[in-house]
Amino acid sequence: MKSQNVKVLIINAGSSSLKYSVLECPGATPLAKGIAERLNTATACFNHRKGDQKWTWDIPSANHGDAIRKMLNVLTGANTGVITNTSELQAVGHRIVHGGKYSGPAVVTDEVVTDIESYAIYAPLHNRAAAVGIRLMREMLPHSLHMTVFDTSFHRTIPPHAHLYGVQYELAQKLGIRRYGFHGSSHQYVAERTAELMKKPLDSIKIITCHLGAGSSITAIDRGRSVDTSMGMTPLEGVVMGTRTGSMDPAIVELLMKHENISIDQIDEFMNRKNGLQGLSGISSDMRDIVEAAQKGHPRAKLTLDIHNYQVRKYIGSYHFILGGVDAITFTAGIGENSDYCRAEICKDMDFLKTKLDPEKNKAIRGEGFINTKDSKIKLLVVPTNEELIITRVLWDNLQKS
Ligand code: AMP
Repeated sequence: MKSQNVKVLIINAGSSSLKYSVLECPGATPLAKGIAERLNTATACFNHRKGDQKWTWDIPSANHGDAIRKMLNVLTGANTGVITNTSELQAVGHRIVHGGKYSGPAVVTDEVVTDIESYAIYAPLHNRAAAVGIRLMREMLPHSLHMTVFDTSFHRTIPPHAHLYGVQYELAQKLGIRRYGFHGSSHQYVAERTAELMKKPLDSIKIITCHLGAGSSITAIDRGRSVDTSMGMTPLEGVVMGTRTGSMDPAIVELLMKHENISIDQIDEFMNRKNGLQGLSGISSDMRDIVEAAQKGHPRAKLTLDIHNYQVRKYIGSYHFILGGVDAITFTAGIGENSDYCRAEICKDMDFLKTKLDPEKNKAIRGEGFINTKDSKIKLLVVPTNEELIITRVLWDNLQKS
């Protein structure tokens, strides 16, 4: 198919939410986007946005199927819509958290959906919802090309010595216990853009990409290939996050279960939703609130910031070493793109690497660019992430082939 100006839909089905966006190719121009939240609860709601216009509807007790039907109605609606008929959506990209063995995007088949369901042992909340979403979307849009893009695939290049844990080898093989890594499309996009901004081929430079948001991961990228990343078998590992613990001694799990009466079924939810910045600060999971509280002198907010920034520094230090030096360190996602305070703390005392953050550039930056001083050996950058562009590109390339 060689048609120009095709419209594609990108779907991200979470455990209780469904995010979507419609873009026009080949330029990946955003046309509309929205989110259905708190699905399967009395307060479920649906938010839709087209340009500057916004709509919100209550959809009490709606499930994923209801949300998808609502989305297709809204996208074809007289005022809210960007298409006249759903057949205009030539391709659908499903963003999937856990892609197990997949080292790249896949055209959806029954086997792919079964695989996604089988990876629910690693990401129960996300992958089950994603499989439900794909099945429904295939039924409702049978003529579209459906593709999955996995958060894990970019990290399949991480070698065994970096992706295996010190767990019995046979057990690890049997259960697929290894580092999978996440935020792959984001790290890929940010690395490619960093190389473009540096006017150097991606396969000639080494980069540490810091995706710091509600979920955070840091990746060591050696000439375009991920060689290590902070998230692990699940998105719980790594630096402290909005509500997730990040890495910790596994014995803490047993202690909490025994002494706080947390059951095996509750522990995943507890680790994912009740800790991190929220649990440490006792204020909020949102970094903006914590920075503000710390500025007003709240000691635990300041401690929370120090823990976060220290842990990020620790990963940067270790990746700098295993890469044998780096050309660039790039910040992205909510905190990475917006918090000059965190970037300044993370990049302090780098003189021994002949590298320095420029405080004015760091404060002034909006969008993408360099925040290092002119004579810095390692370039420091901010690059707003664009996972949708990576997914849209996959869809566009495959539409050209089909
Ligand atoms: P993301 O997951 O990439 O959408 O990032 C969401 C997180 O980014 C929020 O929870 C905030 O903690 C953080 N964030 C957004 N804007 C700012 C800001 N101006 N300063 C600090 N943190 C921010």
